Amino acid sequence: MYCMNCHGWVDDWGSHDCPSGYWVVTDKEMVGIATRLHNLGITPLSAVWTTTEIGVWDDYEYLLSVKIDIGRRISEAVLGELPSGWKYHWETVTPDKSELHMLAYTERWYNFGFKSVDRRIEELIKEFEEYLDTRDADAVKALLLLGAG
Ligand SMILES: [Zn+2]
Repeated sequence: MYCMNCHGWVDDWGSHDCPSGYWVVTDKEMVGIATRLHNLGITPLSAVWTTTEIGVWDDYEYLLSVKIDIGRRISEAVLGELPSGWKYHWETVTPDKSELHMLAYTERWYNFGFKSVDRRIEELIKEFEEYLDTRDADAVKALLLLGAG
């Protein structure tokens, strides 16, 4: 777990001083996205990426995904149109019919030898960080406060 309040990893839950509402389940590559969202007033619960090798050839065809659980439904007007490939997921598709509150990217990616799958994930993460950097924090927070969610 990473703490978006003091920008450190929560090693010992019992002795960490910041409220647990600031903790996010994430990996080091996703800290930038989690922190940016938090700074916009959209505090994520988890932010993770996965790559799954599919297909018959080794190291060729992958399913890539980046998933961010933001814990509540927000109006899509708050962040606006997401970058290409990114989607909001609010569906109630889980077995217990609980709601999803997710920003997610999925891509079927082919390794043509120009770059590794890890490099592709880094790229995706960087693109989303850059997108979040273009959002106006005050405007986003104002929209959230308006209860546009
Ligand atoms: Zn902390």
